[in-house]
Amino acid sequence: MSEDIHTIVDEQLRRTRQRYTRGRRQLVELLLGAERPVTIPELLELGAAQSQSSLYRNLAILEQCGAVHRLVSTDDVSRYELAEELSEHHHHLVCSICGRLEDVILPPAIEHALSRAADEARAQRAFEVDSHRLELVGTCPACA
Ligand SMILES: [Zn+2]
Ligand SMILES: [Zn+2]
Repeated sequence: MSEDIHTIVDEQLRRTRQRYTRGRRQLVELLLGAERPVTIPELLELGAAQSQSSLYRNLAILEQCGAVHRLVSTDDVSRYELAEELSEHHHHLVCSICGRLEDVILPPAIEHALSRAADEARAQRAFEVDSHRLELVGTCPACA
């Protein structure tokens, strides 16, 4: 699976005329191993062996080609995760105090209800829904 991901990221980068450098590959590996969206300091703690400026640049390039998503949480800090095409459909638990994000996979019945909401939007407003995002905002165990 991990090899497939690298093949996809390589293609995504080529399409935007960028190369899959060792630094970018390392970031994809770290995001693959992280269990939630991570900040730049967390990426450095996880072992990203690159300067903060290369980190910013590499993440921006990975974001531009569609491999990585940047999320801004309640603390206004950017967090990064692999795009859903490279991971799995999920939603986020958002701590309104510290800004921490956790991934959450919802049961099929709820996903089904969300896709009915998309049908509703199409019927009522002629709006074509391609995807959805759901954030459950509250207090994480560390802040409780
Ligand atoms: Zn918290
Ligand atoms: Zn969903």
